[in-house]
Amino acid sequence: MASSPARVRARRCVTGRATLLCLLLAPWPCTAWDTVPHRKITKAALDWLPKRVLARFGDQAAPLAAVYSLYPDRYAEMVRFGFVRKSAGPRSPEEIRAYCVRPDGQPIHSATGDRDMDMASLIYLFERILTSFSENRPTEAAQYAGVLAHFIEDSLSPPHAGDVEAATHAAIERSVPEFTLTGRDPHSAPHNSLNNPGGNLLRTAEAILDRIYAAHEQNRQDLPAMIKAVADRDEPTLDTYRLRAGVNAAEILADTLLAVGGTGIQP
Ligand SMILES: [Zn+2]
Repeated sequence: MASSPARVRARRCVTGRATLLCLLLAPWPCTAWDTVPHRKITKAALDWLPKRVLARFGDQAAPLAAVYSLYPDRYAEMVRFGFVRKSAGPRSPEEIRAYCVRPDGQPIHSATGDRDMDMASLIYLFERILTSFSENRPTEAAQYAGVLAHFIEDSLSPPHAGDVEAATHAAIERSVPEFTLTGRDPHSAPHNSLNNPGGNLLRTAEAILDRIYAAHEQNRQDLPAMIKAVADRDEPTLDTYRLRAGVNAAEILADTLLAVGGTGIQP
């Protein structure tokens, strides 16, 4: 990744009303995909999953997309500002701390650019999802999967690939066009349990992180064109990049859940 790890690590995000508060009070760039894009991207990934894999989440697919995929933002809002959304979901940071913060105290939100750090976050989430499945706790598995979705999605948010002025940053990532992954052949997906039956947790995490970093670099290269499109109020051009980022994130998430939720991967 071209952005320095420290700079990337400094990027955090909160959404909704807390974003305004954040922009007023905090010195660091703090926006990212808003609530609706997170839900859309997560739902597209879940809708694509084979039924046998989706079934492992029991009846939690809908809240996974609608609520759990927002956990890192909601955790940050509650810890930093004491802001609790009125909508369904957690009422206190303690409620979701286990999903959003690793046992070593490191929050999980989006890729930092520090490979060891990011691998540790992915491995933690994979292990927790697998353990929750094996102990028949689908609600917990879905909550960890929601944090995983947010991690991938924010990492691919285009303005996170560089230093972008706050208003432009927010303009680029405020929405994503409608899309689905319908028709995508599961057997063509790289690094999943169907064509990688000998895969293991570590190899899968390495492969997923490579894809996240590659998409981040693609965003970084195209960032000047996106910034120009914001200046020109050129929404069709912006939507092209937003759609690419959203589809990329959904595909990476879908392949990750297929690998972790499928039968081929060994912890
Ligand atoms: Zn976020």
